[in-house]
Amino acid sequence: MNCPSCAAQGITSDVTIVSRAGSTLAWQPHTDERGLVHEHDPNIYRTTYRCARGHQWLEQTRKPCPLCGEASGLAGPFRRS
Ligand SMILES: [Zn+2]
Ligand SMILES: [Zn+2]
Repeated sequence: MNCPSCAAQGITSDVTIVSRAGSTLAWQPHTDERGLVHEHDPNIYRTTYRCARGHQWLEQTRKPCPLCGEASGLAGPFRRS
């Protein structure tokens, strides 16, 4: 994990996690026609990071399904301040 603001300037810095939060939707894995179990977790997990130079940003992710990768790439990182 590198700070995107620092990376844009070609420097690196220590990054710490400020907070983690997530939605708490109830969900169940489902089984497809081949009997394979998919885990399509609809919850969005938010992690706030801060680098040693004071940049702060938020990443929103969903856990991709281990079988088909559903949800991967849905939520990209975006920057705050
Ligand atoms: Zn930074
Ligand atoms: Zn799946």
